[in-house]
Amino acid sequence: MARVAGKVAIVSGAANGIGKATAQLLAKEGAKVVIGDLKEEDGQKAVAEIKAAGGEAAFVKLNVTDEVAWKAAIEQTLKLYGRLDIAVNNAGIAYSGSVESTSLEDWRRVQSINLDGVFLGTQVAIEAMKKSGGGSIVNLSSIEGLIGDPMLAAYNASKGGVRLFTKSAALHCAKSGYKIRVNSVHPGYIWTPMVAGLTKEDAAARQKLVDLHPIGHLGEPNDIAYGILYLASDESKFVTGSELVIDGGYTAQ
Ligand code: NAD
Repeated sequence: MARVAGKVAIVSGAANGIGKATAQLLAKEGAKVVIGDLKEEDGQKAVAEIKAAGGEAAFVKLNVTDEVAWKAAIEQTLKLYGRLDIAVNNAGIAYSGSVESTSLEDWRRVQSINLDGVFLGTQVAIEAMKKSGGGSIVNLSSIEGLIGDPMLAAYNASKGGVRLFTKSAALHCAKSGYKIRVNSVHPGYIWTPMVAGLTKEDAAARQKLVDLHPIGHLGEPNDIAYGILYLASDESKFVTGSELVIDGGYTAQ
């Protein structure tokens, strides 16, 4: 039996990387999936791939920093598929800079996409899920939301914010009697366009990242997608306000 059969999901930033793998896996496991992303061409390609594999998906153009665009994306989801059961707030950007080298403008850009985007996505999802009788929201934090890094001041702050915001939203939903669960996922380094961009295809820089993971290699998008699938499905019905670390032992050291 498919693990999320009959459910409707929206995944932000799903045109590439972890979001794309998540959209593909949710569709394979029976969900109808809306891919929300800035990148229309990549997003349409992801939809075509899901449909070619026998799944159901649609693309909506979405900038996660834009409240009006979020409302339109949810409206479109409800119009297409009639309900919302799963929301994965995955869109995010990487940014390297210390407390001294990060400008206020860059700081705000990172918070706006990585933190405001998750706040808005959670807010609109709760509203839609209340009407659907419940749901599961999964927010992408990072190992960088659990530990500090001298060169990731803005990114650490945004991902740490996602972690505690998730717990706040989970408690609010539980105490309000909504059947809506909210959890965060904390990946180690996963080989995606984001990490390829960080290492600029430099083999030595990539090896440096590999060495941080006791398991001896970087993760793949599907390693995270399977964790998200568990949190999105009813298999995790007693799990809310929790943080799922998937990092090859990075933070166990
Ligand atoms: P990626 O760069 O490969 O893909 C991100 C997608 O988000 C892209 O399709 C991009 O167009 C989209 N996006 C960016 N800004 C957007 C916006 N404002 N509105 C809508 N869409 C937007 O990234 P990834 O590596 O797959 O990362 C996905 C998430 O996982 C991010 O939140 C990231 O911080 C987190 N994460 C990634 C890693 C990793 O090692 N790759 C580790 C920990 C956490």
